[in-house]
Amino acid sequence: MSLGSDVALATAQRRLATAARHLGLSDDMHDLLRTPRRAVTISVPIRRDDGELLVLTGYRVQHNLARGPAKGGVRFHAGTDLAEVQALAMAMTWKTALMNLPYGGAKGGVAVEPGLLSAAEKERVARRYAAELVPLIGPDLDIPAPDVGTDEQVMAWMMDTYAAHTGRTAPGVVTGKPLSVGGSAGRAGATSRGIVITALAALRERGHDLGSTTVAVQGFGKVGALAALYLRAAGCRVVAVSDVKGGVHDPGGLDVAALMRHVADGADSVIGYPGADVIGNGELLELDVDLLVPAAVENVITEANADRVRAGVVVEGANGPVSAEADQALADNGVVVVPDILANGGGVAVSHLEWVQNLRGYPWSEVDVRRQLREVMERAYHEVSALAAERGVSLREAAHIIGVGRVVEAHQTRGLYP
Ligand code: NAD
Repeated sequence: MSLGSDVALATAQRRLATAARHLGLSDDMHDLLRTPRRAVTISVPIRRDDGELLVLTGYRVQHNLARGPAKGGVRFHAGTDLAEVQALAMAMTWKTALMNLPYGGAKGGVAVEPGLLSAAEKERVARRYAAELVPLIGPDLDIPAPDVGTDEQVMAWMMDTYAAHTGRTAPGVVTGKPLSVGGSAGRAGATSRGIVITALAALRERGHDLGSTTVAVQGFGKVGALAALYLRAAGCRVVAVSDVKGGVHDPGGLDVAALMRHVADGADSVIGYPGADVIGNGELLELDVDLLVPAAVENVITEANADRVRAGVVVEGANGPVSAEADQALADNGVVVVPDILANGGGVAVSHLEWVQNLRGYPWSEVDVRRQLREVMERAYHEVSALAAERGVSLREAAHIIGVGRVVEAHQTRGLYP
């Protein structure tokens, strides 16, 4: 267990414990919710292009199935381990419940640096990982999706492997697929659109005029780049963005579409984009902006830097970017945090729409998908915001009270077998 994933799991357990206290849960129910339903470690041996054998380790944790089949992404990332996957799977349980989707929570991953694999090697990792999971996944069992280091192509390989093993084409076994094999219109930008819907709701509630709102976004991948683009389209001034190599800053506002073209044209970083100053990832988090969107990796705002965060609103695009200790410091300084299980729930909300389209074999238009996404996100935001005001708790505590509360209700209604 690495220190980072150890902290992530302890943080997830702490957030559950706080919700359990607010809900007055018994110790028994708390124990049931703390414990993953299934956690598997998988050997993923693949042949490298040069013929050498590479034995990787993969994981899948199905944290809770009380409300429906398990749902959650698969990451290919060097630092992935069982504790990290367990923490993320638990957060998925509360997220799907908060979004009121008929799912439990899961997460998976393979400990590998995807940048070091050729496309063919990456395909072999995806297929071998999926083959090992065949008995545990399926449209009514557990439905993986993309996450850090995986994408729609990886989902297509996983779906094809599942079909080869079961003799059935079941597009609903994974979501976040390419459109050509049953993906949904509007899935690609869904997480980012959801982030923007919640960010704008939080800003409006605090009386911000969007035209004068300044924004910094950490992470310029699938989630961060489109969040920056949509925030700019909504009228905000995006003054800084970054990726793993560092960031760029222009107080006058960045042209996000041009930055995306800069990266798509082969630059390996936003750094090098002409006409903007270079800043570090740490500096970006401390800029004097109205809105900060950490959309890269976990634990970037900790007790070490929380006091230097000057943004009034932090919207967690990434999973777990703010540590439990930092939560308290931000709250003491009047910084509002829109928590990950609410802010980035747009991805799983549209994954649900993709799965429904797969099950009934009838696609929706992008307009329909976006309308339903907006409804789910706005309903979730307003439920959380109203409960936070009523109970005098943070948005994160309110989101967990609602999510955990719905899972408890499902457990109590189903009863315990045998
Ligand atoms: P991605 O791999 O497409 O992009 C990650 C970005 O973060 C890249 O720009 C990378 O350079 C940058 N980055 C990596 N390490 C960094 C570091 N130490 N400091 C600063 N930047 C760093 O991944 P993604 O799909 O955009 O996911 C980002 C986050 O959003 C993750 O926490 C993921 O779990 C979460 N998330 C993703 C989705 C989705 O639909 N893809 C849904 C919900 C949550």
